[in-house]
Amino acid sequence: MPIDKTPEKNAILFVWFNHYAGVLIKTPSKTLVVDPVDAKARSFQNADAILITHEHYDHLDQRLISEIQKATGCMIIADRASAKSLQHAIPVGKLQEIRPGVEIKVGEVSVKAEKCNHPAAAPVTFIITSEDGVKVFHTADSLPFPELAAIGEREKFDIAFCTVGIAPGTSPETGFEIARLTKPQVAVPYHTNSATSQTEFAEILKKELPRTACLIPELNKIYQVSKRK
Ligand SMILES: [Zn+2]
Repeated sequence: MPIDKTPEKNAILFVWFNHYAGVLIKTPSKTLVVDPVDAKARSFQNADAILITHEHYDHLDQRLISEIQKATGCMIIADRASAKSLQHAIPVGKLQEIRPGVEIKVGEVSVKAEKCNHPAAAPVTFIITSEDGVKVFHTADSLPFPELAAIGEREKFDIAFCTVGIAPGTSPETGFEIARLTKPQVAVPYHTNSATSQTEFAEILKKELPRTACLIPELNKIYQVSKRK
């Protein structure tokens, strides 16, 4: 699954690689991995940074992160609780704690944290902006919350990942609500092991938000998303 392709200009590639929030994002210059669990370290041999949204088992796997970090020398950007549990496993200087409102640069790629509505210690969502200005919203397993509307208006997302299951309180409807509030160009239903939940999300989206395209990802498949015109 390592992506050896490079995206076209003004585009990113992504792969969804587990039933949770595991997403690999490749910009023309950098490879970012969000919440790697249920995967092999060798799948991420080009990683420049690993981003962790919160400390739950389906998002934080200390051993895997440490293995990837050793193999690649990549930087780890993590919420406060995850950073705390990683502090002895990751070399000093390679682990950066992030909290809502803070931006960290990975080369020319920007990683900014926002709030996350999920019962964890200090969970975050991530806004990733490529060097070409492609905007990705990785919402971890957040439930909708009102500030998403202002965030969407400000950022004009090209793609948003929307949780449709597994996490407490989530459903195709709450996933749709994230899309409705943030109004991305492309909405991706994820964090589920049910194809039915993804189809339900797609149906609601088509009816209620026809200008947002739905991309139902297959696991471990590469997709390209371009900046909106
Ligand atoms: Zn989760």
